[in-house]
Amino acid sequence: MKNIFRIFSIFLPILCLSSCGLQSAHLANQPVQSVDTAMGTVIQQNIYLKEENETITDDILKEITDLEETVLSRRLDSAELYQVNEAAEDREEIRISESLAAILSSCQQVEKDSDGAFDLTIGDVVELWDIDDYAGQENPEGYQLPKQSAITEALAHTGYEKVELQENLLHLPKDMKLDLGAVGKGVALTNIRQSLGEDSSVEGAVISVGGSILTYGAKPDGSSWKVAIVNPRDTASSIGYLDITGDWCISTSGDYERYVEVDGVRYHHILNPKTGYPADSGLSAVTVLSKDGLLSDALSTACFVLGEEKAVKLAEAYDADVLFVDCEGNVTMTEGMKPYFHPMK
Ligand code: AMP
Ligand code: MG
Repeated sequence: MKNIFRIFSIFLPILCLSSCGLQSAHLANQPVQSVDTAMGTVIQQNIYLKEENETITDDILKEITDLEETVLSRRLDSAELYQVNEAAEDREEIRISESLAAILSSCQQVEKDSDGAFDLTIGDVVELWDIDDYAGQENPEGYQLPKQSAITEALAHTGYEKVELQENLLHLPKDMKLDLGAVGKGVALTNIRQSLGEDSSVEGAVISVGGSILTYGAKPDGSSWKVAIVNPRDTASSIGYLDITGDWCISTSGDYERYVEVDGVRYHHILNPKTGYPADSGLSAVTVLSKDGLLSDALSTACFVLGEEKAVKLAEAYDADVLFVDCEGNVTMTEGMKPYFHPMK
């Protein structure tokens, strides 16, 4: 019980500011805090400053919004990814920016290593399920589960092995649509860490972009970061927390994050590219701890689809650690995660 209080004492002050996105005053040993929405999710910032910086949370929020609006979104026509997907309808070869090429190149490696459990070409199938537009609803009005024939048709426009990237030249087959939803939040964390490192006013920070969390630097009192792991079946509570110091990226993929419920069955947003249906690997949540944001995010999605046994092997190849919660609520983890994880008493 004491632990619950300790962890929520970290997160509650942020939640209390949620409706207004306010910034609290910079006080000695007190973090500047804000809660906003961007990238279709909640952004919580807790930043410890060495010196006054009145714009820090706004600057970081803008960085996240810009990344979404100019690069990552498949819905906003201002974004490069949207334009790439549009261009793929007319021609197969597209010149892309260096930053998008770097993201796609890292993703290609995870696609290969996960044997396509993680696959950015899933875009058409994601659109078909349309979970985002109805997320959190039970038997939503106007929502129709996709028909098998439509899923089969959409799957024909997927397949990471059909995509080629040569430096900045992308060969994307006609009718194929890329979706960066599984890595965008992690990419944002990596960019934010770079900005924080260049800002001499910042001593330490915990910033969450939806299910991906960055810890950076240190708190003024030297105490560790405590990152709560959500209980997938009671999302207002935690199953425990990670006790870590320094710079880390922690990403969670879970069947509770975005889903629709139809006739008592939950259809969540993480799809198995082999079947076109929500992944059904016996897991309800996977948390990945890595030094790199893109990797923590990509691996959490891949591991969720793969199931525990294959996921452990994949994570090993990336020097990442993983915590699994299965559909019965059992918690298991890789050896390297054990020293960091503290279960709720
Ligand atoms: P995450 O919550 O990080 O696991 O990402 C889930 C999001 O990534 C979904 O909302 C889709 O946009 C996309 N997605 C779903 N399944 C996959 C998959 N198997 N590989 C890559 N992206 C996926
Ligand atoms: Mg992910």
